[in-house]
Amino acid sequence: MPASPKSSLPPFDPTDPLGLDDLLEPEDLAVRDTVRGWAADRVLPHIAEWYEKGELPAVRELARELGELGALGMSLSGYGCAGASAVQYGLACLELEAADSGIRSLVSVQGSLAMYAIHRYGSEEQKQQWLPRMAAGEVIGCFGLTEPDHGSDPASMRTHAQRDGGDWVLNGRKMWITNGSVAGVAVVWAQTEDGIRGFLVPAGTPGFSAPEIRHKWSLRASVTSELVLDDVRLPADAVLPEVTGLRGPLSCLSHARYGIVWGAMGAARTCFEAALDYARTRQQFGKPIGGFQLTQGKLADMAVELHKGILLAHHLGRRMDAGRLRPEQVSFGKLNNVREAIEICRTARTVLGANGISLEYPVMRHATNLESVLTYEGTVEMHQLVLGKALTGLDAFR
Ligand SMILES: Cc1cc2nc3c(=O)[nH]c(=O)nc-3n(C[C@H](O)[C@H](O)[C@H](O)COP(=O)(O)OP(=O)(O)OC[C@H]3O[C@@H](n4cnc5c(N)ncnc54)[C@H](O)[C@@H]3O)c2cc1C
Repeated sequence: MPASPKSSLPPFDPTDPLGLDDLLEPEDLAVRDTVRGWAADRVLPHIAEWYEKGELPAVRELARELGELGALGMSLSGYGCAGASAVQYGLACLELEAADSGIRSLVSVQGSLAMYAIHRYGSEEQKQQWLPRMAAGEVIGCFGLTEPDHGSDPASMRTHAQRDGGDWVLNGRKMWITNGSVAGVAVVWAQTEDGIRGFLVPAGTPGFSAPEIRHKWSLRASVTSELVLDDVRLPADAVLPEVTGLRGPLSCLSHARYGIVWGAMGAARTCFEAALDYARTRQQFGKPIGGFQLTQGKLADMAVELHKGILLAHHLGRRMDAGRLRPEQVSFGKLNNVREAIEICRTARTVLGANGISLEYPVMRHATNLESVLTYEGTVEMHQLVLGKALTGLDAFR
């Protein structure tokens, strides 16, 4: 096909060099712009302060506002959820993480982990009891899988649930649990004599506590907690009835990882834009640093990886909407996009020189946040092993 005459070409847009907006429907753009506008009003003016203090003071208020936006359990249907497409959910994750990975984590854990587990594996009564209030942001949820001694290998978890008459009694510890101390309900995974099962533990249940983990140097504007379960007695109907085994939590993680594939590109976009802006204005040796070939090389490479990553996220979103997204493909996306996002943020840091380490700019905050994103929901190595197994047919996990 002949190339179109140059004069009829749309102008080159540095914020969308591949013209990827062409892939979006008007409703997708509306979702994106709404979430971007909310984050600009409600997160960006405060995030540096929250990050510096290591707290998310307005978490309950933010959750309610996110509920009003329809961002909680966004791609789930019924029970007050928005029933949005996977692409729209992804765009929301990107815009939230462009503000801060902590805000996207709040939404991912609420929607893709806690609500998804109840929506997919809960009884009708459990769904009615929890989902509408969680979709509205009135109740925050958390998802307890990781333990102090069992992270990448959750099948070895020690937390266990035993039958006692008609009740269940839970004992154990969970570690690094996002939203833990502010959650009204915890989805806790535990060993039973039939295999791993999920339990809904309401906050305030005797024997259950969620002390906050302090002194983090990453995801500082996110609540992270331990979950302590000492003889926590729950009624028979606290168990998620529709799943037994590790496939329960793993399917929830796959859904959340899909959001991260998009979200990581949001953090990268913010850092790229900060670097581009700085490169155009910062003068050294008598001209803008963006006029030096070495800086242009960095900017070009960052733009290429950023927009390849968004294209990949979009492709996975379309597959998810078509019901054709495999977990290995989610691993592909998480592995690539988080690894590239952190590289983009680190490169942006160098473009900003000393200012790159200051909280006056968003770059170092995003770069340190992504250290957590690189580790949670399956480390880089776990996703390499998932792909390695799919490619070779050989299991190298053990
Ligand atoms: C801020 C934050 C929030 C989190 N939120 C949650 C949450 O809400 N819910 C939850 O359940 N968990 C959460 N996590 C925990 C997270 O999912 C785990 O940290 C992660 O799964 C890794 O486990 P680990 O830290 O125990 O590392 P380990 O499993 O001990 O791994 C340490 C290193 O060894 C490597 N390794 C392990 N096994 C192998 C192998 N077979 N081959 C090669 N390398 C290997 C790993 O890739 C990693 O590099 C969170 C973590 C953080 C930091």
